[in-house]
Amino acid sequence: MASMAPEIPSSILIVGSGVFGLSTAWALCNNPQFKDTSITLVDRQPFPTPDGSSIDTSRIIRPDYAAAPYTRLASISQQRWRTDFAPEHYHQTGLCVTASGPEQRYVSESLANVQALGVDNVEVLGTAEDIRKACGLEGKGDEGCGSTGYVNWSSGWANAEGAMGWLREKVERLNRVNFVVGTVKKLIIDNNTNTVSGARLSDSSELTADLTLLAAGAWTSALIDLRGICKATGQALCYMPISPSEEATLSQRPTILNLSTGLFMIPPSQRLLKIARHGYGYVNPTTIPHPESPDPNDTITVSLPFTHVDDPSQAVPREGQRECREFLASIHPSLSTPSRPFTKSKICWYTDTRDGDFLISYHPKYKGLFVATGGSGHAFKFLPVIGESILECIMGRTPEDFKGRWEWPAERAPEELWKGDGSRGGPVGMVLSEETAKEQMATSKL
Ligand SMILES: Cc1cc2nc3c(=O)[nH]c(=O)nc-3n(C[C@H](O)[C@H](O)[C@H](O)COP(=O)(O)OP(=O)(O)OC[C@H]3O[C@@H](n4cnc5c(N)ncnc54)[C@H](O)[C@@H]3O)c2cc1C
Repeated sequence: MASMAPEIPSSILIVGSGVFGLSTAWALCNNPQFKDTSITLVDRQPFPTPDGSSIDTSRIIRPDYAAAPYTRLASISQQRWRTDFAPEHYHQTGLCVTASGPEQRYVSESLANVQALGVDNVEVLGTAEDIRKACGLEGKGDEGCGSTGYVNWSSGWANAEGAMGWLREKVERLNRVNFVVGTVKKLIIDNNTNTVSGARLSDSSELTADLTLLAAGAWTSALIDLRGICKATGQALCYMPISPSEEATLSQRPTILNLSTGLFMIPPSQRLLKIARHGYGYVNPTTIPHPESPDPNDTITVSLPFTHVDDPSQAVPREGQRECREFLASIHPSLSTPSRPFTKSKICWYTDTRDGDFLISYHPKYKGLFVATGGSGHAFKFLPVIGESILECIMGRTPEDFKGRWEWPAERAPEELWKGDGSRGGPVGMVLSEETAKEQMATSKL
């Protein structure tokens, strides 16, 4: 029996104005099927969200994936970046993906997928020396840079905040979306009919809609129970000011991403060099009232973001700053002198899933609720296209190659069994409060 396509909702409430939420708002405005649908987009912060995952100096734009469906979608998205989607914010300076351990498997699968796409400006790098040469690195050996890898000169990076601002302006100009600044405290759930009819804000006002689309990034776990499905992990980013001539030189080089340590350096922009870690991250276990329970005494413990907005003095814990520093020292020792410290660091939150796949799905229990999250540290590049894909899923047409990846998992899996997508390196099992406490202990001993 053919399954019936869902009805077009007369009103949609989008919670979260990041990549998933804003891109969906844009796709809704452009899709004639939704021409009569009223669209409201609520975010807890005025745009641009200072601690949102989608707002930063730079994000890598690559089709370099071990999983072929993402290679396919990323290459479509990248074509948009090159042509009609914020092209002034896109820079095609290449990406060098390396490893020196088990993560080499991800590198070779990704290389095969990129080659299958027909990308011809890919250089295989068989030694650390080859990597150093391709990326214009200083230093010696495979310390920092990895021992094997490849460079895809067709990959690049985008100014994330610039591109999000570009899209936001486009959406605003269409005058279709009602933008609201407010914090969603709880979804409006009818526990008798298992229906969601909107959201209640922290000022007790309500936003109602036929369909609520939850795209609150790493905060989504505060609004529905995602235990065993998604968790927030904090990632380290460190910034160092550089001179115009240093920027001119480094900005022509490829991004270097060492999957075995997770450490990477994107070409600098706005006179800032960014060193970051694509790793397992810090978790921040937090006990909150169960978001789906009418009983306020019912609680759950989940990892949630804790950011520089919550604590303006927040910095990356000492171990993260040390790793970023050692990486810089190994690839550009001349920049890593004691007189040039990182002047800023921040923790940015991934919404990790068990296998690195996004979660783009109706909620299996609640009518009127759709979830678009689980960016797993790699969703930014899809900004031009993910909203269209989300609409396809809303209409019951999940792309064939993402079936079984984006849908709500049949079972919740204990976090210790999560395999990830094979792209993560570096330390595992770190808890943010413990790492911060180590730093405070070290300072008190000085
Ligand atoms: C350090 C770092 C590096 C990354 N590097 C790359 C990269 O190189 N390439 C790449 O493709 N991807 C990268 N990513 C991943 C990508 O940036 C994210 O997957 C993507 O931005 C996630 O978008 P989002 O919409 O899920 O979340 P967000 O951008 O965080 O948006 C969620 C929004 O929801 C709002 N919100 C939360 N709770 C509430 C509430 N209760 N009420 C109202 N609003 C609420 C927040 O304020 C926020 O604006 C990186 C991510 C990080 C953190």
